[in-house]
Amino acid sequence: MSTIHDVLVLGAGMVGVSTALHARRRGLDVVLLDRREPGEETSYGNSGVIDGGNLYPVAMPRDLPTLFQHALNGQTASHYHVSALPKVASWMLDYWRWSAPAKLEETARVMRPFFAQAVETHRELAALSGAERYFRQTGWLELYRRPESLAAQEPRLALSREFGIDNVKLSREETLELEPHLKPAFAGSIWCRQAETVSSPGGVTKAYAAAFVAGGGRFVIGDALTLTSVEGGYAVETGEGRIMARQAVIALGPWASDLIGRFGYRAPLGVKRGYHRHYQPKGNGFLNRQVCDEDVGYVLCPMDQGIRLTTGVEIAERDAPKTPVQVDRAFKAAGDLFDLGEPVEAVPWMGRRPATPDSRPILGPAPRHEGLWFAFGHGHWGFTLGPATGRALAAAMLGEPMPLDLSPYKIDRWG
Ligand SMILES: Cc1cc2nc3c(=O)[nH]c(=O)nc-3n(C[C@H](O)[C@H](O)[C@H](O)COP(=O)(O)OP(=O)(O)OC[C@H]3O[C@@H](n4cnc5c(N)ncnc54)[C@H](O)[C@@H]3O)c2cc1C
Repeated sequence: MSTIHDVLVLGAGMVGVSTALHARRRGLDVVLLDRREPGEETSYGNSGVIDGGNLYPVAMPRDLPTLFQHALNGQTASHYHVSALPKVASWMLDYWRWSAPAKLEETARVMRPFFAQAVETHRELAALSGAERYFRQTGWLELYRRPESLAAQEPRLALSREFGIDNVKLSREETLELEPHLKPAFAGSIWCRQAETVSSPGGVTKAYAAAFVAGGGRFVIGDALTLTSVEGGYAVETGEGRIMARQAVIALGPWASDLIGRFGYRAPLGVKRGYHRHYQPKGNGFLNRQVCDEDVGYVLCPMDQGIRLTTGVEIAERDAPKTPVQVDRAFKAAGDLFDLGEPVEAVPWMGRRPATPDSRPILGPAPRHEGLWFAFGHGHWGFTLGPATGRALAAAMLGEPMPLDLSPYKIDRWG
């Protein structure tokens, strides 16, 4: 007779791995499944910021001059495929609505308890998995080239103070004391001290996955799209045979819509594509923490492989060929701030942020399938929120007191 496991987690990115590890730590018999090794997709290539002080979601510009600039398609912060526009138009319109100032503040307030758990929940899993060596407690820097851009942050800083978030406005000179290898082509910065950063997001995800296996969890390679509902739970086909479990968690990041559709669910899950490329720093140059060039729109991230340059958003179909024009534009702009040398890889990496128009993930039970759970759509902040997501889902599966209210994240919030 085949074994029926307690939980099958589909997708071994930061969200799925964290969910599997939390469930296993509570004594559940858990299988984690992916078509690749853990942490090799979006959770590999991000900027590695664990932004515990995050407040406003990344918004779409709403003023006409800025929108017009983006429409010309020559910006560093954004790029789009004209051919994708008919397919993404309704998602974009919703995103535009959710980018209104009042909506952004609503989301900031709703999601604050979630972000507030980010650093603490990562620390717990890092200690358990020996991943602490990747972590830096140095915060991250938002650099503003123009004094007026820095001044425009005042309302956000006021809201940060209301929530007790440790953000500090720094002059150019104070910033250079923190990062002596930056060039002074900026007006000042905001030092987000409530964030931690890592030198290898993929390494951290793999370490958490290894802790899951060391703790008695099982990892298998398989195709999540074979998931079916069977008597007493769910079954999936793998190279190791059919695996059955009473509960299943869909944590497939940008691929989640492929599977939920088969169970009759729909959600406005778009993708915001993004790129990275590593460069050797020139000479003895180094950075102590991730630095975002806010007025241009890219991040410089000190990683184990070199300085990782990560780009802003590309609107395109999920599986359309790569068009890494933003990497070249960002590389040129970065020269004003830091001396980057030779690229480490022949071609840039591309990832897909799994994004909802309201910038909130989709979490919780599937309304019409007992034992089926959703955990995807974390957009720009899935690496940050993975462990807090895993802790909340494991508690929900076991009917324990909830560390986080999941009601703002229901899949049926769109009707
Ligand atoms: C350029 C860039 C910079 C970013 N910077 C940050 C940052 O600094 N901080 C932050 O918090 N977030 C950041 N993000 C966002 C973050 O990376 C994502 O939100 C997060 O990685 C999503 O994690 P996930 O586990 O949901 O998805 P993923 O990591 O993509 O995991 C999904 C998994 O599902 C698997 N899968 C898919 N289909 C199947 C199938 N059919 N069968 C089996 N397995 C399947 C995939 O192989 C993959 O392993 C950034 C993203 C990008 C692109």
